[in-house]
Amino acid sequence: MALIVQKYGGTSVGSPERIRNVAKRVSRFQADGHQVVVVVSAMSGETNRLVDLARQIQSSPDPRELDVLLSTGEQATIALLSMALKDLGFKARSYTGSQVRILTDNAYNKARILDIDNGAMRRDLEQGYIVVVAGFQGVDGEGNITTLGRGGSDTTGVALAAALQADECQIYTDVDGVYTTDPRVVPEARRLKVITFEEMLEMASLGSKVLQIRSVEFAGKYRVRLRVLSSFEESGEGTLITYEDDERMEQAIISGIAFNRDEAKVTVLGVPDKPGIAYQILGPIAEANIDVDMIIQNVGADGLTDFTFTVHKSELGNALKVLGQLRNQISASEVISDDRICKVSVVGVGMRSHVGIASFMFKALADEGINIQMISTSEIKISVVIDEKYLELAVRVLHRAFNLQNEGGLT
Ligand code: ASP
Ligand code: MG
Repeated sequence: MALIVQKYGGTSVGSPERIRNVAKRVSRFQADGHQVVVVVSAMSGETNRLVDLARQIQSSPDPRELDVLLSTGEQATIALLSMALKDLGFKARSYTGSQVRILTDNAYNKARILDIDNGAMRRDLEQGYIVVVAGFQGVDGEGNITTLGRGGSDTTGVALAAALQADECQIYTDVDGVYTTDPRVVPEARRLKVITFEEMLEMASLGSKVLQIRSVEFAGKYRVRLRVLSSFEESGEGTLITYEDDERMEQAIISGIAFNRDEAKVTVLGVPDKPGIAYQILGPIAEANIDVDMIIQNVGADGLTDFTFTVHKSELGNALKVLGQLRNQISASEVISDDRICKVSVVGVGMRSHVGIASFMFKALADEGINIQMISTSEIKISVVIDEKYLELAVRVLHRAFNLQNEGGLT
């Protein structure tokens, strides 16, 4: 007998019929003798609908009240799924985040889980119940309802699995696993049987939308065995996220290609090349709460240098405002920006033991005439910033160059 936490996303519970299907799937695990805790999202589109409603009342909705509102989406799903399970003759009981007592901090709209009381869930499981828990929500120390940020039900699933020391956390979604890249861009993209936790973390933070980043971090911290599967297929092993390199059956150097269009590039031209300049530019940016991703500073031959960095597109305006105020102080000749860029990254733990991966990547791009504007690397990833209009081409070319369409990839 195993204890399994299953999380079903919005599309998987998007209609009464789909909720019934989820109930059937869940009940099969119970009938096989397993204990099951189910975490559900709001029905697809529901959270967006609620956000819209709130905005019609208040242009920037009160954070506390927004969480009270948004949490109703998941609350509806737990009740409906529990009814469906009971209808099939199973014992089921629903819990909101606060009924479980998923204790969070008080950062409305992006709360972090601090502690989970597993008492009620354990008691129910022992008595043969299927436990159904609302994803995405918790309660702070004062009893206020909080939510965990968009996509937060993944984190609820992983956190419950950690709190219950579950044997596996299964994330059911509308794709059947983690792919080498987005199949909408590269049709021959392939499902990975296994990916390491570190690679998954890179993929998630670089733009792969399969799992919420925080859930992957949580899984890493608590070593939760995590699997991504399709809720629309009867069988299939999905993708297992592992912690050991040796568990990877596929020993390809590169596991996947991630990309995102969310960043914009800012360049401060002609600043004096002297100690403290990076701090003088990025200090005020950080104070304005703007996240910086990639950074490049050129070597200045004439005592002047250019300083380039990327920020989220939605923060570009703010960044330019900060730099505008700063310009004279740092005696920059000009500040320019470009929001028509994208970032393409290759990810793989195999990079640790192979040399020449970066040059291989750059050659593949050069052969297609794609200009690289910025580069950054870590132990297991290489990212480049290129013109947005070459995104699809670059991803396709790299996918082929690294032979990712074939199992085993480039070895
Ligand atoms: N319903 C929330 C959202 O749409 C949480 C989730 O589905 O994970 O972001
Ligand atoms: Mg989701």
